[in-house]
Amino acid sequence: MKKHNCPHCGEPAFTPIQKALAGSLRTNGKPCPHCGRKCCNGMASIYFSSATSVISLIIIIASYIMISDKMTSTIIIIACIAVSLLLNFLFDMFFGKLTEPIRIME
Ligand SMILES: [Zn+2]
Repeated sequence: MKKHNCPHCGEPAFTPIQKALAGSLRTNGKPCPHCGRKCCNGMASIYFSSATSVISLIIIIASYIMISDKMTSTIIIIACIAVSLLLNFLFDMFFGKLTEPIRIME
């Protein structure tokens, strides 16, 4: 499987799974095995995860209002959260560029 290049040294450094686990710009990121500098998922990942959370929030509210059966609406809410987390993980695995973490809070 194709590895993602490190934004610092340009070497193929992260497998898709490792990239997905590297976190977002809001985290410390993961060190590159070649140069040791920290890498994380860039802005595209944040845009994508905010889009999926807005969509799942809409579905959650809609199912809460429209479905009277508590059991069914609970299942839909849990499924929505699980699907959005999975989509974010898949997006980080295959799309978006690695970048340097901006660590706002040290
Ligand atoms: Zn590197």
